[in-house]
Amino acid sequence: MIDFNVPPYVGNELKYVEEAVVKNRKLCGDGPFTKKCSEWLEEKTGTQKALLITSCTHATELAALLTDIKEGDEVIMPSYTFVSTADAFVLRGAKVVFVDIRPDTMNIDESKIEEAITERTRAIVPVHYAGVSCEMDKIMELARKYHLYVIEDAAQGVLSTYKGQALGTIGDFGCYSFHETKNYSMGEGGALLIRDPQYVERAEIIREKGTNRAKFFRGQIDKYTWVDAGSSYLPGDMNAAYLYGQLEAAQQIFDDRMRSWKLYDKLLRPLADQGKIELPVVPEGCTHNAHMYYIKAKDLKERTALIQFLKENGIQAVFHYIPLHSAPAGKQFGRFHGEDVYTTKESERLARLPMYYGLKEEQVQYIADKIAEFYQ
Ligand SMILES: *Cc1c(COP(=O)(O)O)cnc(C)c1O
Repeated sequence: MIDFNVPPYVGNELKYVEEAVVKNRKLCGDGPFTKKCSEWLEEKTGTQKALLITSCTHATELAALLTDIKEGDEVIMPSYTFVSTADAFVLRGAKVVFVDIRPDTMNIDESKIEEAITERTRAIVPVHYAGVSCEMDKIMELARKYHLYVIEDAAQGVLSTYKGQALGTIGDFGCYSFHETKNYSMGEGGALLIRDPQYVERAEIIREKGTNRAKFFRGQIDKYTWVDAGSSYLPGDMNAAYLYGQLEAAQQIFDDRMRSWKLYDKLLRPLADQGKIELPVVPEGCTHNAHMYYIKAKDLKERTALIQFLKENGIQAVFHYIPLHSAPAGKQFGRFHGEDVYTTKESERLARLPMYYGLKEEQVQYIADKIAEFYQ
């Protein structure tokens, strides 16, 4: 069976975990490896501050707390996304307003956001699907015009760019995921990127149970105390050690995935030219990170048959999000603004192909051959 995903393991991860346990004797959060990971992220992305977090879900929750989003507020996002994008704001009592996606990138349609803005709108949450950027210039322009926060769900967008800027650094806050299904992993984990330094101190406080412990550790105060409402959003240093092994080898992981992505794209292009399937689109000005390779079948029926055919041939291809507005909680906590022209239709056509660090050229070739066979 060719699995859909295999968590990356490059080689130094366990050595660093051992170092955390045996040498550093530091297992809790904010140890030496957490520091290395944050510095790596700050250097690579150019963000003012990167905080290592227990998950992307929690990073988004932290952003919702930092922006003081509360009951009665509205937050605009696509319906074609993971539940965490919405959960973070629903937990604060906000209403989620879903806007249709663009069929080319599966990202929120920037031209439909403005009409969804009301007096109660507080934030826009673009989701960079497959690590391909949303149209950020337009989104930032709307945010400035209506005084809204932009919180980027860049869970899939680590090391992708939009007009030269790293995803997650363009909006006020950016949320990364290091879940085992993402390009760089620590099992469960994430990061919050903060553009404006004025939010850093409060972010550190909320992340550390509402205490000013981060300041204490830096020697800026002589004892720490409870100063705000907070939670516990810092991962243990063993997990950070594992992640550091991956970040250190990020280019190697990136190149390996990109080879597979480009090979899929080359081998499947003839089928797309014949109009049988559609392939991912990367708009001009965007660079992506080969997080995902997907194809689109004609409709739900054809996709179901394709996934079944691939499964019978030992290939695990999978569909993706069921639009949130059609889920029970989506109906309870959200509403769809405007018409669902593409969200449901396009989501039903999409199938993701195996993609992971270490996927072999012969395997990609075999998968492409089987897809061609299906369409014969
Ligand atoms: C993976 C993912 C998340 C959640 O990440 P966790 O680290 O598992 O919390 C959120 N949004 C998107 C778009 C994702 O792909």
